[in-house]
Amino acid sequence: MSLVTLADLPGPFVTIIAVALGLVFGSFLNVVIYRLPRAQSLSHPGSRCPGCGEPIRVYDNIPVLGWLVLRGRARCCGIKIPLRYPLVEALGGLLAWAIVRAIIFELPEETSWWRVVLLFALYLALALGLLAASFIDLDHMYLPDPITVGGTALGFASVLLRDLTLREAAVGAAIGFLVVWLPFDFLYRRLRGQSGMGLGDAKLVMLAGAWFGWRGALFALLGGAVQASLTAVVVYLTRGRLDEPAAVIRERQELRELLESSEGEARAELEREIALDPLASEPEPGLGKARLAFGPFLALATIEYMLFGDVILQAVFP
Ligand SMILES: [Zn+2]
Repeated sequence: MSLVTLADLPGPFVTIIAVALGLVFGSFLNVVIYRLPRAQSLSHPGSRCPGCGEPIRVYDNIPVLGWLVLRGRARCCGIKIPLRYPLVEALGGLLAWAIVRAIIFELPEETSWWRVVLLFALYLALALGLLAASFIDLDHMYLPDPITVGGTALGFASVLLRDLTLREAAVGAAIGFLVVWLPFDFLYRRLRGQSGMGLGDAKLVMLAGAWFGWRGALFALLGGAVQASLTAVVVYLTRGRLDEPAAVIRERQELRELLESSEGEARAELEREIALDPLASEPEPGLGKARLAFGPFLALATIEYMLFGDVILQAVFP
């Protein structure tokens, strides 16, 4: 047997290819973050300048470097390109590097090359999906199903490659969904008439369970909650308030205008919908009532578990 294994692959070469792929896909992620919530095609048209609509040249689209060379301005019309674009690209590269270091290089040396490639692709897809979901949630306070439900499906589809049983994935996904949905949506709605947490959050913890079993799901929720609380306190102390995303404020305004212009049964239907939607009313003042997108913290904790799950389990169950 002369099968190429992990031991035959030169480490630095693997790292460089992986980081380059992370940067390139990170660049595509900026397109996903902008277009997915707007229900626009992800492939057509290609990258365009947000200022004037001019197609972006290939060499200006080189991750991070393109932004640095042009000093954060578009070549065509000079519009400012937000720092977030190179940041998302850099995070893509960083995640790819972390996956190689923490997961791929920890595989047994006799792991065949195709398994190495498949596992890297799977974990990178998971990490980038979570990254996109985080930024979409920050902008719009919602988590798209193609990422949460699609990511759950990918978790199920890849159990054999990841030494997980289908049963562990199914139990993890079910617990992940229920542990958020039951107390924060189902019961909360009965008690308060409104949902305390979105269904998207439940689907995101379901994803963590499908990938990492019930322990991963619980870590995503608890680790996410702890980090979200700390962040909320720090932001509140330094800025005095927690701002809602601009898109949420805009959507509420649009909903109100729609309500003004509708009558009869349509208006009653819309009023019922608004009563159930926690984002349709303005948040009350105070830290306890402030709205924080929870998705980025669930995603962060899921990535932490993906990279350091073994260490975390050792610490919790010695
Ligand atoms: Zn332009």
